Amino acid sequence: MYILLMGPPGAGKGTQAEKLIEDYKLLHISTGDMFRAAVKAGTEMGKKAKTYMDAGGLVPDEVTIGVVREGLSKPECADGFMLDGFPRTLEQAVALDKIMADMGKKLDVVLNINVPDSELIDRVVGRRVCKECGATYHIKFNPSKVADKCDKCGGMLYQRNDDKEETAKNRLDAYHNQTEPLFDYYRKVGIYKEVNGLQHIDKVYGDVKKALGKF
Ligand code: ADP
Ligand code: AMP
Repeated sequence: MYILLMGPPGAGKGTQAEKLIEDYKLLHISTGDMFRAAVKAGTEMGKKAKTYMDAGGLVPDEVTIGVVREGLSKPECADGFMLDGFPRTLEQAVALDKIMADMGKKLDVVLNINVPDSELIDRVVGRRVCKECGATYHIKFNPSKVADKCDKCGGMLYQRNDDKEETAKNRLDAYHNQTEPLFDYYRKVGIYKEVNGLQHIDKVYGDVKKALGKF
């Protein structure tokens, strides 16, 4: 199964991916997570990516495509994966088709989690992430049982550097201008699906599973 999860920042891609991984043991490939790991490790690529991430802009295509090409070349990707946060530009989508064609594969389904802008800033600003295992919470909508502690591993929760209101607005602009045109790209090949992300997390997950049903 080759799935692509789409949706604006804060739509719930990571939250739904956590559930899909648990139920289906799918390999989760998130370019945002890859960039954050590179920033943490202090690599040259991480330093370069950080300037774009902190401003809420997109990391340049040549860097991002290189990272994904390398990630997808790993043997464990041969049996399927779930991409989250990539592609975000038309150039990245074309590059992904090429990378997958070289692997002799193609995407099965593109699932867009639809959430209106009015809801997204609150979701992003209230997001908290576990430093240890990466699990995602929200201070109001999905709080951990003990404040600032991960339910799953006891790790400390933190607020991402780019989860500030101003940065979140820039990320939303980037999404509307550069990523939304991809809907038509995938509609044309008949693999585009949408779910309503403005529902309780479990209800969204029910719809996600329905949309992925035949896969
Ligand atoms: P994305 O990966 O698309 O940026 P996340 O999965 O990290 O989004 O979710 C963003 C924030 O919104 C998190 O704090 C998460 O707990 C919360 N969230 C996710 N799905 C929902 C939902 N259906 N309703 C309310 N809050 C949600
Ligand atoms: P995310 O975790 O998906 O919200 O991504 C966090 C940040 O990483 C984004 O705001 C971008 O700066 C960068 N990023 C992640 N994925 C991509 C991508 N496919 N193309 C360009 N930049 C990306």
